Amino acid sequence: MSCTNRFLRYVAVHTTSAEGEHSPTTAIQLELSRMLESELNAMGLQNVHIDACGNVIATLPGNAEAPAVALIAHIDTSPDAPGENIKPQIIENYDGGDITLASGLPMTVAQFEYLPSLKGMDLIVTDGTTLLGADDKAGVAEIMEAVALLQSAGRPHGELRVIFTTDEEVGLGVDGLDVAQLGCKYGYTVDGGPIGEIEYENFNAASAQVKIHGLGIHPGSAKDKMKNAGAIAAEFQSLLPVAQTPEHTEGYEGFIHLHSIEGTVTEASLGYIIRDHDEAKFAEKKTILTVAAAFLNTKYGEGTVEITIGDNYRNMRQRIEPEFHLITRAQKAFEANGVTPVSVPIRGGTDGARLSWMGMPCPNLSTGGYGFHGVYECIPVQALEQMPKILADLVCSFAE
Ligand SMILES: [Zn+2]
Repeated sequence: MSCTNRFLRYVAVHTTSAEGEHSPTTAIQLELSRMLESELNAMGLQNVHIDACGNVIATLPGNAEAPAVALIAHIDTSPDAPGENIKPQIIENYDGGDITLASGLPMTVAQFEYLPSLKGMDLIVTDGTTLLGADDKAGVAEIMEAVALLQSAGRPHGELRVIFTTDEEVGLGVDGLDVAQLGCKYGYTVDGGPIGEIEYENFNAASAQVKIHGLGIHPGSAKDKMKNAGAIAAEFQSLLPVAQTPEHTEGYEGFIHLHSIEGTVTEASLGYIIRDHDEAKFAEKKTILTVAAAFLNTKYGEGTVEITIGDNYRNMRQRIEPEFHLITRAQKAFEANGVTPVSVPIRGGTDGARLSWMGMPCPNLSTGGYGFHGVYECIPVQALEQMPKILADLVCSFAE
C-alpha cells in the first residue's frame, strides 16, 4: 500500500487555493511544496527546487536515449469545498451499495451511478465534511511512486521532469512555468478521473463582456427619448440561440453561457463565457454575439452596445494530433496493466491544454478518483496502486 500511504500523508496537509492574481494564492500550499521537495531530495533526484510560485520541479536523470518527458500534478485543492482536517475512511472490500459517511451523510447508488462498478475495491472516502483531495494529491502520490518504481526497476528510460504545481484550481497552475526552460519535449498531467481516462480534447474558451449605455429620462416624459439599458440587455440575451446553453448541451456541443447580468435604465452589463471544441463553431459563436451587438446599435444608435471578447484557452487537440503517439503510448500502458483506456472530450480546460499551446504537448491522464471538488470525492486503493505502474510503463515507452 505504498502509494496509498503517500496519498494519505499528502491529503493531511491543508492546501486549499483561493481566487487571486498571483500564485501562490495561499501560503499553506508551500507546506506541501517543501514536503515534496525534501522527499524528492531524499530520493536522490537532481536539481530539486521550488520556484517563486511554489511549484516543485525536479529531475530524474535518464539511463537511456529518449526525449525528456514531464509528469505534472497539482498540490492545491479546490476552494469549492472545505479542505482542512481531512479524515479519510477506507471501506475495505466495498459491497457496491449505499454508503453512510462518518458524518452520517448518505452517499447512494441512486446519486452516484458509478458506485456499483467499484464493488470489491477498498474505497477511500471522506468523513462527509471535507473534500478528499484525490484531485490532485492522488496524481502527486502516483507520480512520486512511479519515480520510486523507475529507480528500483532499472528499466531503460529517458530524463523525467517531475512538476508539482500550485493553484491549478484557480486557473493559475501554469504560472511560473516556462516551457523552454523545462526542456521537455512532451508532458502528461495526471489530474483526471476514473482509471483509464486519457484526455486530449478540451474546449476552446473565450469570455465576452457586453456593456449597454442607456439614456435615463423621467418616465413621465420619456416618450421617444428614453433608452432603457436594462431592457436592451434583456433584448440582447433574447437574440441568442436558446439551445446553445450549458443546460441544453453535452459531449462535443458548445455553448454561450450568460453568467452575470445587472443593470439600471442608464447602464447595464452582461457577462458571457463561450465554449466549443470546434474552432469554426467557436468562431461562429463569437460572431453571433458581435452580430447581436451590431443589430442593437443599428436599432438604438451607434455606441449603445459595446462588446469585448477575449480568448482564455484553446483546444489542445490540434497540438496533440501531430504527436498522436502520446495517446497510443498511454493506451498501451493502460492495456498492459489490464485497464481499458477511454477518451472523452473535456467540457472545460486543463493546464495541459495551456502547456500544449506553450509548446509542450500535454494530454491528461486519470488519477483513479471520482466526485472531485466535493464531500463525495473518493478513490479506490487499487487505482492508487495501479497508476504508478502505468506511469512508469509510459515513461519507459519513450526509450523503446
Ligand atoms: Zn485537478
